[in-house]
Amino acid sequence: MSVVPAGSIPYFDGHCDTISECTHRGRSLGENAGQLDLARLGRFEKAAQVFALFAPAARFPKGALFDECRRQHEVFLAELAKNADRAVQCRTGADIAGANAAGRVAALLSLEGAELIDCDPDRLETAAAWGVKMINITWNYANALSGSNVERRDRGLTDRGRAFVKEAHRLGIVMDVSHLSDPGFWDLAEMGLGPIAASHSNARALCGHTRNLTDDMFRAIRDSGGAAGFTACAEFVGRPCSLDDGIRHIEHFLALDGEKTLALGGDWDGCGLFARWTGVQDLPVLWNALAARGYDRPLLEDIFFNNWLRVLGRDA
Ligand SMILES: [Zn+2]
Repeated sequence: MSVVPAGSIPYFDGHCDTISECTHRGRSLGENAGQLDLARLGRFEKAAQVFALFAPAARFPKGALFDECRRQHEVFLAELAKNADRAVQCRTGADIAGANAAGRVAALLSLEGAELIDCDPDRLETAAAWGVKMINITWNYANALSGSNVERRDRGLTDRGRAFVKEAHRLGIVMDVSHLSDPGFWDLAEMGLGPIAASHSNARALCGHTRNLTDDMFRAIRDSGGAAGFTACAEFVGRPCSLDDGIRHIEHFLALDGEKTLALGGDWDGCGLFARWTGVQDLPVLWNALAARGYDRPLLEDIFFNNWLRVLGRDA
């Protein structure tokens, strides 16, 4: 089995916290010592990355989160402007194809936690105008929309949560269930409003953390036409956290007929990585290991690119 280099591997990843790192550590998006930068993404055959704006609510005074969100959005725009030869913001599938044809990284925007826009359905217009493609209903804290996977875990969507989800759907913004409570997940699934995303979650059957998806949740995402991103985050792969342990999550989801659902969601710059990885540059190791197990290129291209493209590349 020949080893495929990064240059012949497509890459579309659903979650990273790099913009928060750029904002608070003064890192450059172009090149940095973290887990992801444009220089490394540029080595792939073609690359698309969802960049989350993220801020832990407890560290900000009440009412200051939307200011922080706007600040990070400015950083996102400024970093893209500085690196206009290497990356461009994309809102549609046509944008992504155009960026990749020009040899640029396609940069998409998401919000990790609706509290960043004060859980306010009226602020969704602003998010849509910024080109936000996906929003986590919660991060780790419960908010006005729902309980989360670690706080008020028994609480599902509130009335405001349902109104928020409906308005997001109207604006073409995909709801992201990574970090959401289990009742919140099922309330959302029952609303039946199009594709559900889990941008960075693994299989709970293999690693019992509530951040991971049960088999029934994965099937519901699959049946919604959505996608679930395999996360390289060690905590959600589980011990001993080798490459094979990561592949077990991938094979578990594939066995649930997940060929058109499973995608990538590294959580780059958001956590410690499995298999002693240090960043996105390690992904060809995963591609090659899966190829060595007999998975063919069309399937790997779906996991590594096409499944997110189908969910996030729709015209709003
Ligand atoms: Zn996260």
